[in-house]
Amino acid sequence: TPTSNIRNFCIIAHIDHGKSTLADQFLLKTGTISERDIKAQTLDSMDLERERGITIRMHPVTIYYELGGRKYELNLIDTPGHVDFNYEVSRSLAACEGAVLLVDAFQGVQAQTVANAFLAMEAGLKLIPTLNKIDLAHARPDFVIGEMEQAVFTDPAEVMRVSAKSGIGIEDLLAAVIERVPAPAGDSTAPLKAMIYNSHFDTYKGVVVYVRLIDGSMKPGQRIKMMRTAREYVITEMGQFRPGMEKCDELAAGQVGYFTANIKNIQDVNIGDTVTDAFNPAAEALAGYKEPKPMVYSGLYPVNNHEFEDLREALGKLKLNDSSFTFTPEVSDGLGFGFRCGFLGMLHREIIQQRLERDSELNLVQTAPNVTFEILKNNGETVTVHGPQDVPDAGVIKEFREPIVKISFLIPAGNIGDLMAMCTDRRGTFIRTEYLSQQRVILVYEMPLAEVIYDLYDKLKSVTHGYGTMDYEVLGYRTADLVRMDIMVHGNRVDALSIIVHRSTAERRGRKVLQKLREEIDRHLFEVALQAAIGGRIIARESIAALRKNVTAKCYGGDITRKRKLWAKQAEGKKRMKQIGQVEVPQEAFLAVLESG
Ligand code: GDP
Ligand code: MG
Repeated sequence: TPTSNIRNFCIIAHIDHGKSTLADQFLLKTGTISERDIKAQTLDSMDLERERGITIRMHPVTIYYELGGRKYELNLIDTPGHVDFNYEVSRSLAACEGAVLLVDAFQGVQAQTVANAFLAMEAGLKLIPTLNKIDLAHARPDFVIGEMEQAVFTDPAEVMRVSAKSGIGIEDLLAAVIERVPAPAGDSTAPLKAMIYNSHFDTYKGVVVYVRLIDGSMKPGQRIKMMRTAREYVITEMGQFRPGMEKCDELAAGQVGYFTANIKNIQDVNIGDTVTDAFNPAAEALAGYKEPKPMVYSGLYPVNNHEFEDLREALGKLKLNDSSFTFTPEVSDGLGFGFRCGFLGMLHREIIQQRLERDSELNLVQTAPNVTFEILKNNGETVTVHGPQDVPDAGVIKEFREPIVKISFLIPAGNIGDLMAMCTDRRGTFIRTEYLSQQRVILVYEMPLAEVIYDLYDKLKSVTHGYGTMDYEVLGYRTADLVRMDIMVHGNRVDALSIIVHRSTAERRGRKVLQKLREEIDRHLFEVALQAAIGGRIIARESIAALRKNVTAKCYGGDITRKRKLWAKQAEGKKRMKQIGQVEVPQEAFLAVLESG
C-alpha cells in the first residue's frame, strides 16, 4: 500500500459509549470478519475484559477498504477505557494520526471523553467527533453536541452520527476517516525507525512486538537493534493483525503490525523504544514515553504457606503479559511468606487478583492497598516506601510525602454541594468548576491519591445516583502529616494490618478497623484485647469477650449428625486461620482495613 493510502486511527470514548461495538462494525462492513466470527473473535479477547466490558490491552487491527476506486489500508488501534490504563491510551495515540471521538447521544460527554480528547489533541491527532446510539428513542443529539462544543471545542458542523449497534452511518464514518485523517508522513527509503507501542508473550513465537513504522522498512531476516538497550535481534516473522496474526513479507513507513525475533523475555522489550536497522541505524531515537510506575501496592499471601512457590510461578506468568505489574517477596509475621505487588490502580489490582484466582487454584489473602510514599530522612536520603512495613521510625523522618492527583468529576449540577463536601472530607483542594450546560458541570479538585483509591468511585456513584464520572492524573508528591498506625491483637503487633494514614483521620480509622476485627475474630477462652497505636501510643481499643459456652451447645439436644457437620465446618474454617500469638485470626480479618476507609 502506498503511504498516501494508509490511515492510522483509534476510537476514544468513555466506557460503554460503544467503542467495541463500533470496532466490530468496522470489521463487519469492510469484510474483515464475518458475522459468524464476530462473537468468537472480537477486539477485546480476554474473558475478563469481555465480562467486565472494559478494554485493557490494546489490540490493533488492519482493515482494507475501497473508496472512490482506491484501496485504503486502515489501521484501527484499540485503546483502553479506564483511568488505571490512561498511559496505554497515550501509547496508542502515538501510533495514530487521527481519532474517532465517540460520544453516547443520550449520556453525553463524560469524564473520560474529556480526558481522552485532550490527550489526543496534545498528541496532535485529528479528531472526528461522532455521536453514537442515534437509534435510541431518547437520544438527544443537539444537547450532546452542545456539551461537546463546550467541553472539547467541537465544531458542530463536523459531527458524524452513527448507530454502532444497528450499523447506521458506518460507511460515512469510514469515509470521514479517510478524508479527514492525514496519511502518515514517513520515508520508506530512510533508515528504519519503528516505535514499539505494545507487546505480548506467545508460547510458540516468544515475544510478539507491536510496532508502528515511522521511516524505512522491516522484513524477516533483517538484523535490527533496539536503540535504548542496544540489543540486536534477527527478525523471524513480520505480520499484521487481521484481527488474528497474519504473516506478511514486509512492513514499510506508515504501517502498523508486529514482528517476532526469538525474544524470550518480555522485559527485554521496552515500550516506547525505537527499533532500527543494525547495519544502517537511524541517527536518533524517537521520543519515548515514560513507563508508568505502579501507584497502588498490596501484599498477596497464599493461605497455605506451602503454596508460596506456586504463587510465585503464577505471578511470573501474569507478568509475562503485563509489564506494569510488579511483585517482590516479603515476609509478614502474621501471614508468613508472600509478595508485595504493585498495580497501576485499584481496577488493575482487582483484575490481577481475579486472574490469579481463575488461572491458578490458589487461595489468597490480600492486605489493604496503599499508595507509594516518599520519605525524606533527617540524613538527607529519600526513600520510596511501598508498604507500612518499610516506614522507618518516626524519629528519623523529616518529611513524609504522598502522591497527589488532579481529579475531574463530571456530575449533575444538583449534586455539586454533596460532592464538594465529600472532597473536603477527603483532604481535597478545590480548583475550579466549569458548566457544560445548566444541568451538568465539571468539578476539578486536587486530592491525595490515597483518598481516591479506597472507595471514592463508589461514593461518587452513590452521591450522583450513578450519573457521575471521574478521571484523574497524578501530579506528583507532596508533604503531608502521615503516620503509620499499628494494630495489636492480644499484645502482638500484626504487621499485615498496619496502615499509613493521615494523622487527622488515624483515630477514626483505627476505631473502625478494631470494630471490624471484633466482628471477624471468634471468641477465645480468654478475653482478646485489640488495640490501635501510633509509635507505641494507644489511640483506640476494643476487646472480644471470653467464650463461656461450648459452641455445640447451639444444637438442640444431641443430634450427632448436626454436631459432625459443625465440627467439619470448623475444621474447614481452620485452614483459613492464621495464628497470631494465642489468637486465631481468620483471613477475612486481614481485609478489615480495606473496608474501614
Ligand atoms: P465500550 O465500553 O465503549 O466498548 O462499549 P460497548 O461497545 O461495549 O457498548 C456498550 C453498550 O452499549 C453495549 O450494551 C452495546 O450493545 C450498546 N451499544 C453500543 N452501540 C450502540 C448503539 O449504537 N445503539 C444502542 N442502542 N446501543 C449501543
Ligand atoms: Mg469495549
